[in-house]
Order: sequence, then C-alpha cells, then structure tokens
Amino acid sequence: MWLIRLYIRVLGQLGSDLKVGALLSLANIGLAVAAFAEPVLFGRIIDRLTGGGSQSATAVTFSSLLPLLLAWVAFGLFTIGAGVLVALHADRLSHRRRLTTMATYFEHVLELPLAFHTSTHSGRVLKVMLEGSNGMAWLWLGFFRDHFAAIISLTILLPLTLFLNWRLGALLVVLVVVFTILTAVVLRKTEEMQGTVEGFHSRLAEQASDALGNVPVIQSFTRVAAETGALRSTISQLLAAQTPVLSWWALASIATRAAATLTVTSIFMLGTWLHLSGYATVGDVVMFMSIATMLIGRLEQVVGFVNQLFLQAPKMREFYEILDTAPSVHDRPHAQNLDRFEGRVEFDNVSFSYDGKRAAIADVSFTIEPGQNVALVGSTGSGKSTTLGLLHRAFDPQSGAIRIDGIDIRDICLASLRRNIGVVFQEPMLFARSIRENLQVGRPGATDEEMRVALERAQAIEFIQRQSDGLDSVIGERGRSLSGGERQRLSIARALLKNPPVLILDEATSALDAATEKKLQAALDEVMRGRTTFVIAHRLATIRNADRILVFDGGRVIESGTFDELVARGERFAELARAQFMATEPERPAQQPMLTAAGT
Ligand code: ADP
Ligand code: MG
Repeated sequence: MWLIRLYIRVLGQLGSDLKVGALLSLANIGLAVAAFAEPVLFGRIIDRLTGGGSQSATAVTFSSLLPLLLAWVAFGLFTIGAGVLVALHADRLSHRRRLTTMATYFEHVLELPLAFHTSTHSGRVLKVMLEGSNGMAWLWLGFFRDHFAAIISLTILLPLTLFLNWRLGALLVVLVVVFTILTAVVLRKTEEMQGTVEGFHSRLAEQASDALGNVPVIQSFTRVAAETGALRSTISQLLAAQTPVLSWWALASIATRAAATLTVTSIFMLGTWLHLSGYATVGDVVMFMSIATMLIGRLEQVVGFVNQLFLQAPKMREFYEILDTAPSVHDRPHAQNLDRFEGRVEFDNVSFSYDGKRAAIADVSFTIEPGQNVALVGSTGSGKSTTLGLLHRAFDPQSGAIRIDGIDIRDICLASLRRNIGVVFQEPMLFARSIRENLQVGRPGATDEEMRVALERAQAIEFIQRQSDGLDSVIGERGRSLSGGERQRLSIARALLKNPPVLILDEATSALDAATEKKLQAALDEVMRGRTTFVIAHRLATIRNADRILVFDGGRVIESGTFDELVARGERFAELARAQFMATEPERPAQQPMLTAAGT
C-alpha cells in the first residue's frame, strides 16, 4: 500500500542523522522490552506471594523476592533514562531533518525547468514545501518517540505472550487482529476522500497567493468581495469533503475505546475462569491484565498515529511528487567547463514545443559571429523569447542542436553556460531586497564603484540617487516600489555587471519612454560592442543598427539579413517595419522615404 511505502520512504530519509536514528531505534527496542518485562515481573512476584506456580507461599522470604524486585527497579530506571534520551534526541532529530529536507526541496525546485514553474503556482510550491516538511518532521518525531516501541510491542512481544499463557495470549492476539482490520477498513473507506481534501488545501494556497500577488487589481476592480467569496467557496468545499473523513475516524476511535474496555473485562473473566479451572495462576491474570492495558494503550496510539499519518500523507506525497520531478536540463557526465566564450552562436535546425504538441519554434537555423549584434523581430507569440530561452538552456530543444564556439551547449556545464550569458528578461524580475543586493546578483561582491558605473550606463543612476537610502533602499516584492521603466533599467544594470560575452535583451526597453530609451540606446550600443548580443525589440532605433535581423513568424525564421537588405526585399520585414516601427517613430523621417520606396 502506498501509505506504507511513503512511511518507509520518509523514515529512510535520515541522511546524516542515520546514527542518531539507529541509537533511538535501539533505545525504543529497550523501552518496548522494559514495558513488557515489568508486568511479567509483577505477575511472577504475585505468584510467589500467593503461592501460585510451583512454590508454596510459606517458603517466600523477602530475600528470595529480591532478584525479581531489583530487576523490576532496573527496568524502571532504564525506562526513565532511555525515555529522557529518546524525548530529547527525537525532538532534535526531527527539527534538523525538517529544515534539511526543506532546503533540499528548495534547491531542487529552483533547478526545475521553467516549464514546471509556469504550470505550478508558486503558492502551491511554497505550501507543499512547508506542509510536506512539517508532516515529515511529525512522522520522524512520532516514530522515534513512541511508535517504533509500539510497533515492536505489537509485532514481537505480543506473540511472546502465547508462551506465557497461550489461552490468554490468544485472546490478546485476536483483539489486535480485530483492531488492525478495523483500521484498515476505515483507511480504505477514507483514502480517496482525503486525496480530494488535500486537493482543496492546495487550491486554497494557490488562490490566496494568487490574490495576494495582485492586490492592486483586486482593489481597483473592486474584487475584494468576489475574491473572498471564491476563497470561502473553496473552504466550504474543503469542509464538505473533510467531514465524512473525520466521521469515519471518530467511529474508528470509538470502536477502539469500546474494544479496549471489552478486552480488559474479557481478559479478567477468562483469567478468573482459567484460574478456577487450574489453567492460570493469579500472577498470570494480573500479568495479562497489565499487558493488555499496556498493549491497548499502544494500539490506540498506533491507530491515532495511522489516522494522523493518513491525514498528512497526501501532503508528503505531493512533496515527493515535486521532489521526484527530474530537472530536464542537467549536466551531461563529461560536460566541459569553459571559462569565457568567444561568442559564436549557431542554431542548427532547432525545434521546440512546450506541450509536445504545438511547436513553439520549428527548424530554426542561423549562425552568429562573435561580437555581432542580432535583432529578433516578429509579432508577439512568434517564438522569439523561446529561441533565446533555448540559448541559455531554460529548456532543451526536442530536435536540432545549438552550438556556442562550435560546442553543443548540452556538452557545456550549465554553470559555465549561464555564467557566460547575461539575460535581461521581458519582466524585470527583481528581488524584494536592497538595490545593492539586486545588483550583486549580477556580480557577487561588486564594489559600489562598479555598481555606479553599471547604473550610469543603464541610465539608472539618477533615480537611484533619488531613493532615500540610495543603494540600500529595499524595493518591495518584485521591485514594486519602482516604476516599470526604473525596474527595467535596474535589471539592465544587473546584467551589465555580469559582463558576459553573450547578452540577451528580451524586450528590455519596452517600458521606457522614448527619451529615456534613446539615452539608454546609446549606452546599450556601447555595451553591445565586443559581445554577441541578441535583442528583441519593437522599436526601429534598436533594430536599425543590428548586424543581422532574424524575422520570426509562427515559430520559424522566415527572413534574415541587415535592415537595408530586408527592406529592399520588400517582403515580410518591410511590411512589418512599415506597420510597426514607422507608425510609432514619426520622429525618424530619414528612413521613411526608403521604406515607402521599398514597400511600393
Ligand atoms: P514571443 O517572445 O515571440 O512573443 P514566445 O517565444 O514567448 O513568443 O512564445 C512562442 C509560443 O509559445 C507562443 O505561442 C506562446 O503562447 C507559447 N509559449 C510561450 N511560453 C510558454 C510556456 N511557458 N508554456 C507554454 N507555451 C508557451
Ligand atoms: Mg517574448
């Protein structure tokens, strides 16, 4: 059953705490033995006192009881000592493991392909991280603090009672079997329901974090009531799904209680009858009463634990589902670590599809010489961003190859590939940290002077000086305290600090006003010198000076050449240029006559 597999998997994930885990297990075995030995000793002492068994009561002296009494005291002391050890270390172990597991998950998730992150809400990823690792910590704690000892008692010590008195022992065994069947039935009844409940939990996390990420929209579109209503509706669905599960388990717990009372009374009655018929001593009866009470306590504990495990399991399962998602982009065994690229980029019949059905780009081929400046144009959705995403291995192509300096990029280790490629994304993607920290993402340990130069080149220096704390100003989640254009300039400065031989600018200047863009353009022109640069832009100025323009349409490169060549061809680009650039750039009459000439 998947629940047991999950249980074993969580327990197996002890990592560096394996030794502590082994020690705790040993202590648990000792505790189980002690818990069993105490009633046995108790029964034996009673037998001595009442003259049961083989000896007669008159022969009993205190010194003849002493070994039994001392053994009892020794087990008692051991229970206290081992109990303290277990409580202390089980707690520490579970906390350590929880945080380690969380960090492992975090690292793993950050390495997962962008396709995963586009299809999985960050709210859900976070919820799975927190709840999954909490669930695991709870499992480790429970296992090492109580349940391992309980399991030992039930699986190993219970059958041993058959040797003490098989009739009474058999009654206990029957009882445990009934308990187990009961629990299994409830588990089976509620298994699917709990999966649904967990689905609602995840939906809740997604909804909440989605709304929290869009507060301005919610407020301005007066959606507060609607969003809250949607959340409430998920909550009532969750409750509706959770209630029957809880009822089943309440039933299980009542049945457990009833069975416990029944057992103790039936052990006592059977014991009395057996004693009167000469099949059991008083000591046997007392012993079995104690063992039964102890075992029932353990059983209740285990049933309660299985119940909780069952409620937590879907959280852990989700955790493992994400943890088991293999990063599709990873280093090949003999991937090379290149220091600095020259910057020759070659796409060789590259095709890629996000969903495996519709091609986002198809048969894209081109070669770019080191230091060239390439512009990618085409209507939105034509595959420009996808093409450049493939270059820095945000994903790998399904067919074809991309080579840098003649080496297939899949044979270059990821770290060195990405160190050599600077990307300014369409969305600025800033951290809710200080400006300094955001810039240092580009170059760890960059000095203030280096940052100042980069900011100046990115036309960002003056607005940063306006910030109250300068470089130390914290810019809010995703840089919300800055304007769109300021965010873009900051993200350009970040890429400049990286000083990569290959630079990708994906609509990096789309949020800038014409005047700022023109100023920035001069800076970018300078920045582009000496490195291979790919620019996606919709403005003429950016494209005019490109060494090469690739025209995308429906995921294919349909034309390529310099601005003048393409305009002279009078085909798709000329059309696009006229429609897209000329209309928005009336201040550039220089190109107008030529275009008109080419277009007519
Ligand atoms: P462009 O940058 O030229 O506007 P893209 O490369 O972003 O175009 O998109 C190319 C195609 O791939 C579009 O049809 C788009 O809908 C699709 N696409 C882009 N990103 C994803 C994604 N993460 N998952 C699925 N489809 C995507
Ligand atoms: Mg794009």
